[in-house]
Amino acid sequence: MTQHVTGRLAPSPTGAQHAGNARTYLIAWLSARSQGGRVLLRIEDIDSPRVKAGAADQALEDLRWLGLDWDGDPIVQTQRMPLYKHALEELKAQELVYPCTCTRGDVERAASAPHLEHEGPAYPGICAHRSVADAARLEQSFSWRMRVGARDIGGDFVVWKSFPSRSGRREGTPAYQLAVVVDDAGLGVTEVIRGDDLVPSTPRQLLLYQTLGLGAPGFVHVPLVVGPDGRRLAKRHGDTRLSSMRQAGVRPEAIIGLLAWSCGWQPTSAPITAQALLPHFELRSIPKEPFLLTPDLLAGIGFRVV
Ligand code: GLU
Ligand code: ZN
Repeated sequence: MTQHVTGRLAPSPTGAQHAGNARTYLIAWLSARSQGGRVLLRIEDIDSPRVKAGAADQALEDLRWLGLDWDGDPIVQTQRMPLYKHALEELKAQELVYPCTCTRGDVERAASAPHLEHEGPAYPGICAHRSVADAARLEQSFSWRMRVGARDIGGDFVVWKSFPSRSGRREGTPAYQLAVVVDDAGLGVTEVIRGDDLVPSTPRQLLLYQTLGLGAPGFVHVPLVVGPDGRRLAKRHGDTRLSSMRQAGVRPEAIIGLLAWSCGWQPTSAPITAQALLPHFELRSIPKEPFLLTPDLLAGIGFRVV
């Protein structure tokens, strides 16, 4: 048994959790628990404009329903702002960030490189001539961008959004990349298991670990769940929300059984609990391709997709 394994489940309360999220959480939970490790639950709610009221509580309820537990109280990113601020100050002190006033349109027009799926186009360095001190002269909103130099990690990326408030003081919020590194390092996370849509973020996060002098966890990226059109599971594929399944009377063992079959841990999609899967868990058996979730498979567990 490996010592001190700590995994984490990190729902974003920007919408409802669906069958795709459940598969990733199940894998992350089984991996940590099967090594006798801890599981932390972190609510990634710093993306405030997109955060939906009630979605965090709903996510906790979904996880409990699935039979995935965690250690200690949920960790809430909006309650950890001083830690992120501290990390930003460190990057500023090293002159590793600069204030960028570009709009999304500016970046798209100037960028020639192909767009990374979730990260937008590689930033072409329009504001890279600025120094940290130049920020004091800016009155508008800006982003702190990390200088990545010649490293091939998709361009200088945003670590903080800074904006003037009505009181005249500046407010700001960390970007996902910075918050996730500060949290995973600060909370002692040793393994990060997440969807492979986040692969492009990993080199950026590794650069932040290195720069901030923090030890990096191990990373595993698992294929996503897709709908019949081959695209990532989303609203367009109908309602696959866990809360809707729950309301429709689907048993959690049924969805866990289906997901376990998709990961190669059992030969059929027979109902099973997350706990009972512990001895069957392995990462290796998970197919490298996305899991194609069809209405027929969901009908097989008694859920009609509308
Ligand atoms: N909160 C992110 C999500 O729900 C996960 C981020 C991560 O695992 O690093 O997609
Ligand atoms: Zn700029």
